[in-house]
Amino acid sequence: MSKVILKTKDEIELIRESALIVSKTLGMLASEIIPGVTTLKLDKLAESFIRDNGAKPGFLGLYDFPNTLCVSPNSQVVHGLPNNTPLKDGDIVSIDCGVLKNGFYGDHAYTFCVGDVEPKIKDLLEVTKNSLYKGITEFKFGNRIGDIGYAIQNYCESKGYGVVRELVGHGLGKTMHESPEVPNYGRRGQGKKLDNGMVLAIEPMINLGTHKINQLKDGWTILTKDNLPSAHFEHNVALIDGKPNLLSTFKFIDSALGVKCDDEFPFTKL
Ligand code: MG
Ligand code: MG
Repeated sequence: MSKVILKTKDEIELIRESALIVSKTLGMLASEIIPGVTTLKLDKLAESFIRDNGAKPGFLGLYDFPNTLCVSPNSQVVHGLPNNTPLKDGDIVSIDCGVLKNGFYGDHAYTFCVGDVEPKIKDLLEVTKNSLYKGITEFKFGNRIGDIGYAIQNYCESKGYGVVRELVGHGLGKTMHESPEVPNYGRRGQGKKLDNGMVLAIEPMINLGTHKINQLKDGWTILTKDNLPSAHFEHNVALIDGKPNLLSTFKFIDSALGVKCDDEFPFTKL
């Protein structure tokens, strides 16, 4: 695997700028995600919003991906393609968005409820989001990559969920996917050492049932093997002065949805 590229504080601020545009894009989408909306409409809204903010969609054209957003409803895990099928009451939908600005990428994701979602599925979303912060907590000087994955896996499996193995988080910078890989499973004390200047996209993909996945013939969409729902939450995080510092935020989503959430607070102070 290629070498980890450590970032300067100035470079981290540029990544923060890109990440913030993604955060605002997801916040804008939050109030559009209602029964009847098509995922292609969400994609077009996101593309306009990103361009209006002086950035480029980061996924569009990357590895020949055809859209601005990866939109993955229900049993789709990640990499779903926007289309003209309306979302329905009770669906969940994972939206992953990337942007490129000043030569640096931002890349994060959130799983939204569409209308009224059954409690069992809401719990999956809650646990997946919590697991993201458990992983971020381990992103500190002296730890290793395996500590992040261990924290996510241990927590999610204790709730009976499946942790996707084939898709992982990654380093983030001038390219969307840099070294190191950041698996959502692992062993304490294993893997690359975490160092100041690392910027990671940490992104648990957690299934209600089996961890096993399939890919559709479209060459993109990943879905659960048992067709049960899957959730995906992603943040961009820098290691600064030994501690994890969030570059992305869900606060725009929270304010659009009218919820109050303090999860990010420990990771926001420099
Ligand atoms: Mg992503
Ligand atoms: Mg990512």
